[in-house]
This record gives sequence, structure tokens and C-alpha cells, in this order.
Amino acid sequence: MSQSVLIFGGGIAGLTAALSLAAKGHSVTVIEQAAQLGGRLWHAPPPVLLEAHAATWSLIKTLGQDRLTTPLRHTPLEFLQSTGARIQFLHLPLPSPLNTLLGTTLFQGLSMRDRWHLLSFLERTWEQDPPLPNDLDSRAADEWLTSIGQSETARHGVWNSLARLLVGAALPEISAGLFMRTLRRCFLTGARATKLIVPPHGVDSFLLAPLIAALDRLGVRVKLHATATQLRFSHNRVTEVELADHTRLTADWYLSALPPQRLTPLLPERVVTHYAYFQQLSRLNESPLVVVRLHLDQAVRQTQLILLEGRTFHWMIRHPDEERHEQTSVVWAQAVGEQSLLPQSKEELVRLAVDDMAAAFSAPSSPRILDIDVIRLASAMLSTKPGAHQYRPIPTSPFTNFLVAGAWTDTGWPANLESAILSGQRCAEVISAQPS
Ligand SMILES: Cc1cc2nc3c(=O)[nH]c(=O)nc-3n(C[C@H](O)[C@H](O)[C@H](O)COP(=O)(O)OP(=O)(O)OC[C@H]3O[C@@H](n4cnc5c(N)ncnc54)[C@H](O)[C@@H]3O)c2cc1C
Repeated sequence: MSQSVLIFGGGIAGLTAALSLAAKGHSVTVIEQAAQLGGRLWHAPPPVLLEAHAATWSLIKTLGQDRLTTPLRHTPLEFLQSTGARIQFLHLPLPSPLNTLLGTTLFQGLSMRDRWHLLSFLERTWEQDPPLPNDLDSRAADEWLTSIGQSETARHGVWNSLARLLVGAALPEISAGLFMRTLRRCFLTGARATKLIVPPHGVDSFLLAPLIAALDRLGVRVKLHATATQLRFSHNRVTEVELADHTRLTADWYLSALPPQRLTPLLPERVVTHYAYFQQLSRLNESPLVVVRLHLDQAVRQTQLILLEGRTFHWMIRHPDEERHEQTSVVWAQAVGEQSLLPQSKEELVRLAVDDMAAAFSAPSSPRILDIDVIRLASAMLSTKPGAHQYRPIPTSPFTNFLVAGAWTDTGWPANLESAILSGQRCAEVISAQPS
């Protein structure tokens, strides 16, 4: 039976929920404070996708974009270490986990000793002997890697770079549990899970624009420039949401797809103090991100992804320019969790990015920069410090008709695109499973 659903927050989590619900015949309204839908995706460079990002690929398929994104070339995973060594992790055409195990055996980025320790850990984990410690969510990934025999060189040169790319922060700043689960999903499950793919098209062209068009076709109502300011509750239910212009809206279901620090101010104080579910949101923090985009007058044939050690930026993507790929290319330099970069001037950030680019990509001559964009976000991604896991909420709140979605909720993934999409899908499933 059709239910009415009010979704506040028109980022990818809210829009994914809206799509699933509208496709099942529910009556959906999305409330978004900005002038356009998409939330953080508007700032985002082409995402690094893994085959393991099942919810993302399923959404791309639902939107009929799998034709556009295939054949997608697998992008090699390359490390530039502080010694200047450039090392690729070989993607071997073997079933998983054999491809990862053999790839690790051959990977020159780790010393023989580090590889041996890692492979023997993997073998023991596989056989559950001894079982994995159950305190991994409260331990730092750096300390845990040390405990399984990974040297300082391995942690700095390889694991730290991977942690930044996959989880969004350095090893001491992330929980061992989340890092291990992410590595296992990305490199040890599914025949093709290890493949890294950087789509040649911006996220707006293969995800956002088709998603917005599909919502329009399904009759989803969208209110832009509309800020939710207050939620009202009675007994165990939400009864209405008030907007900044004092409009009051009611529905059968209310779904928050806001960042945590935007959700709490909507709640009456008694709700925040009474329910641990909401109280713990104040324990979640977001970390900064700096992105520099350089449009260059040199063409490249294939997308490159390089993880940098000991430089300002943590990874760089260079891809052919979608429109003029015969002549130009685009470089995205990204640094995660580096508070000290936020106050730097645009000129300084560009200078640092050009420096790192010269180290990362060899070119016969220095390219000319045609266009520059610098993005500085103080709160870009959920910080997944040791212990933070317990504060990430599940979709169902203590109020029977109120659900919570967003990349930062408890999906088992770092707070990335996959997590946002999965959270939206899960909320839609909860609503669709309920009798009205
Ligand atoms: C620069 C950058 C690069 C990234 N790169 C990657 C990547 O390579 N790979 C990857 O997987 N992920 C990446 N991410 C993360 C990914 O983009 C996010 O996890 C995802 O977009 C979050 O979606 P969301 O819907 O949970 O939240 P958001 O996008 O934050 O959506 C929340 C929405 O709520 C709206 N809102 C807030 N308050 C109110 C209110 N009171 N009333 C109404 N509306 C409100 C906001 O305007 C926003 O539209 C990146 C993020 C950034 C910022």
C-alpha cells in the first residue's frame, strides 16, 4: 500500500531512498536546503570505485548507465614511495582471493619479511586460528598492523596510502576493524572485487543527472531552497516537520538524510537527552579534505591513479578530458584529514599540487594549466577514529516512523559513496516492508 514519505536532505543517500520508494509506488517529497540536488557530490572528483561497491553498481545499473560505464577499464593501483620508487600492485586475472594472494606475493612495495608476515596472517585468519580479536573497532589500524608484523616502512609506504584512499584518513586515525573489513571486502571477496575503476565521466553525468531525471519521471516532488528546522514528536512517532519559512509538512514516514551535525538541531532537547540513539550523534566528527583540479593542455590515453607517500597530496587521478580528450587532460590532487592545508592560499595549494603532479606523472614537457579549481572543505567526511563505530546509528530510530540515512550511518563501510547509497536503500527497504 502506498505511503507518503518526507525525505529531508537531497544528497545521494536521500535521492537513492527516494528512487527506491517512488519505484515501489510510494508518494515521496524531497526537501533540500541548497539550490540543487546532490549534496557533497557536487564537490566530488570522479570517485574511485571498486567492484565490491555493490550498491553503487546496482544503482548505476538501475539508472541504465551500465552501458555508459562499460567497457570500463580497470585502473592500475600504483604507489609512489618517498624513495622515488614507483610500484604497481598487479591485478592478476585469477579468482579472488588467489589474485590478491599472488598479487601480494609479487608486490615489490612490501619487503619480503612484510609480505611473509602478511601472508601468514591471512592464512591464519582464513583458518580462524586464532580467531580475530574482537576489540579491533576500538584499536587504531596503525597499532594493529604493527601487531601482525608490518614494519614501519610498510605502514608508511603502503598501508597509510591505502588507508587514506579507502577509508579517508591516515592509519593512526582510523579503527583497525573498519580498515580490515574494508580491505577484506575490496581485496579478498568476489572474483572481480579487486578491480579499481575510475569512471571516465564525472559523477554528475553517470549518476546524478540520470537519478534526478528518474525521480522526475516517477513523480517525486522536490522542494529546493527548503531547510528543515524542526521535527515534532508525539509518543513514539514524528508528527510533522517545520521548514525555515514556517511551512509545516506531514507524512506517514520521515527520513533524515542529513549530516549528523545538521540532524541534532532539528530535535527537541528532551529527545536528544532521553535517547542514546540521538545523544551519541554528538560524538561523531567530520574531517577535512582539500582537492585541487588542474585542467592541462596535454592529453593522456588512460586514467591513472597514483598514491603518494610523503608529499602534500595523498593521491592523484589523471584522466582524459571527456570533451576534448585528443588535446587535454584533467588532474585531481586530493589530501584527506590535513587540517593544516585549509588556511593555505589558493596559489600555494596550486603550487604544491603542481609539484606533486610533476613527481607523480612523467611528461616530456611541463603542461600548461588551462583552468584551476580549489575545493577546501573543513567537514568533508566522517572521521572513523577507533571507537567511533559504536556511535554510527542504524537506520531505524526509537521513533517508529522516523529513519536515518547518510554515508555516516552504520553501513559497515567508510563514509563514502557506497555507504550513502546503501543507507538510502536500507531505509527504503524498511518502509516498503512495513504494512501501512
Ligand atoms: C570532495 C569530496 C570528494 C569525495 N570523493 C569520494 C570518492 O572518491 N569516493 C567515494 O566513495 N566518496 C567520496 N566522497 C564522499 C561522498 O561524496 C559522500 O559520502 C556522499 O556524497 C555523501 O552523501 P550523503 O547523501 O550521505 O550526504 P550529503 O551529500 O552531505 O547530503 C546531505 C544533504 O542535506 C542537505 N541539508 C543539510 N541540512 C539540511 C536541512 N536542514 N534541510 C534540508 N536539507 C539539508 C545538504 O544541502 C545536502 O544536500 C567525497 C566527498 C567529498 C566532499
